[in-house]
Amino acid sequence: MSNVLISPTGPEISCQNWEIEGLLRLFLNSIDPRVAESSKDLIVYGGRGKAARNYEAVQAIIDELQNLATDETLLIQSGKPVGKFKTYESSPRIVNASSVLVPHWSTDNYFSELIDKGLMMYGQSTAASWAYIGVQGVLQGTFETMGEIARKHFNHTLQGKIVLTSGLGGMSAAQPLSVTMHGGVCIVVEISEEKIDQRLKNNYCDIKVNTLEEAIVLAKEAANAKKPLAIALIGNVSEVYREALKANFIPDIVTDQTSAHDLHMGYIPNGLSLVQAETLRKKNTAHYYELIKESLILHVEAMVNFKERGAIVFEYGNNLRNQAYQAGYEQAFQLPGFASDYLRPLYCEGRGPCRWIALSGNPEDIYKIDEIVLETFNHDKRVARWIQFVQEKIFFNGLPARTCWLDYEEREQIGALINEMVKSGELSAPIAITRDHSEGSTMAAPFRETENMLDGSDVVADWPILNAMLNASAGASMVSIQNGGGVGIGNSVHSGMTVIADGSDEASERLRKILVVDPGMSIIRHADAGYEQAKKALDKIKLGKR
Ligand code: NAD
Repeated sequence: MSNVLISPTGPEISCQNWEIEGLLRLFLNSIDPRVAESSKDLIVYGGRGKAARNYEAVQAIIDELQNLATDETLLIQSGKPVGKFKTYESSPRIVNASSVLVPHWSTDNYFSELIDKGLMMYGQSTAASWAYIGVQGVLQGTFETMGEIARKHFNHTLQGKIVLTSGLGGMSAAQPLSVTMHGGVCIVVEISEEKIDQRLKNNYCDIKVNTLEEAIVLAKEAANAKKPLAIALIGNVSEVYREALKANFIPDIVTDQTSAHDLHMGYIPNGLSLVQAETLRKKNTAHYYELIKESLILHVEAMVNFKERGAIVFEYGNNLRNQAYQAGYEQAFQLPGFASDYLRPLYCEGRGPCRWIALSGNPEDIYKIDEIVLETFNHDKRVARWIQFVQEKIFFNGLPARTCWLDYEEREQIGALINEMVKSGELSAPIAITRDHSEGSTMAAPFRETENMLDGSDVVADWPILNAMLNASAGASMVSIQNGGGVGIGNSVHSGMTVIADGSDEASERLRKILVVDPGMSIIRHADAGYEQAKKALDKIKLGKR
């Protein structure tokens, strides 16, 4: 088969109905070269996160979907279709499990052996669930986090503040734009010049520099003038952070989003270029890992030093602290994680990352939904600000899509409105509604979403499994379960769901149920853990129409 895979667009479909066609388009979109980080290797994002195990599996998935009946359910095991069964028209068309190991064996080493044997693939979060839409997918989560930092520490704005971070990959590139959206200045360290150039082209960064000195001068000038600026600095995070400390440069906020969850592929050790790293990784893996350990220790030690010298410092969901701790740096957990401080209050209210994707390929469909969102949720300032920003800043890659953090009632409302717009012909084709895995009840991740839960239930993974089973019962078009997304194998269990709004009455009925499951369970999970804010929200649900 051809190595260039592009998602189909337009009104013609090659599957039995739009529900199946929608899932096929989402699958192809996630490995589309305009969307995936390395389409030729089938790498979608986040280290080696994939949507299909290999090219043979890609072709098999396409064939299976094009031949799937409207009352059959296809089974996907770690990116390979393994069978289909007769179910019901209202059942999910796809159930999908990736990277899941029996807990005792759920380690990086054992998992890598299984990958080498061709038995599994790393599904990350939205890669295996075919919900990946490029950097935009995480942008609002990052925007909400930066907004919460601004609210908590800096009187609601990052104007005049400097953020130092790292990584301009599939998800990490959302950082500089999220900072500038809140008026701040960002220096982002990235080892790959190719990634920097790509992000400059797409508006995620404003300028590229080669030295820390240049970055500091530009950052201070912009901060003093209270102007937003995103500066991409070529370099290795572990070296640059120490250099900054030596230069007595203490930013207001320090974090990092290299792919530290995947040391084999995602974190480049000190002193090596990307090419040198690739060669050494193959030639002398043991030495490569020794270099990584040294770099991690120096990197996290520098972040702890920044904290001691007054900066707000946190780990940004990539398992960096645990990796440094395992490498021998005992103070690593002096740094807090971002989720418990900045996202949990939103989870308690059932607020979470919804996203919708125009299966037509027509950007106008998304702009029409933007208008409805602005009109319907004009009471919600965060939503209005978000939509205005993304309309100005975001270029669509692959299928046009929008993310939007919405709360309990808002999600149900938007589902109904979108389905109505498809039915009336206002939109040119059906819309896929899906979400990030980083939700209040869909992720058990003790180094991230469930760190420091009030009742100590950090490692309890019943919740994402319940979430998946409930989404399947409520009639989602695709439901997935994965291990290790974001923070690496053995460190998380999570679930994904997608539903296709095809304008039918059946879809309307299913959307009404499905879009209540995630926010409802997020509130229940946090109320059960003892959060007052969630208990109050729970009362609201009980008093509501259900
Ligand atoms: P990615 O692999 O696409 O990008 C990582 C980037 O880091 C790459 O561009 C790489 O060149 C760069 N890099 C690696 N080592 C470096 C070093 N030593 N110095 C400088 N640059 C270096 O991954 P991604 O999708 O951007 O995700 C990054 C990490 O963030 C992952 O661990 C992911 O799981 C995590 N993540 C967290 C959240 C969240 O919690 N909000 C969301 C998304 C991703």
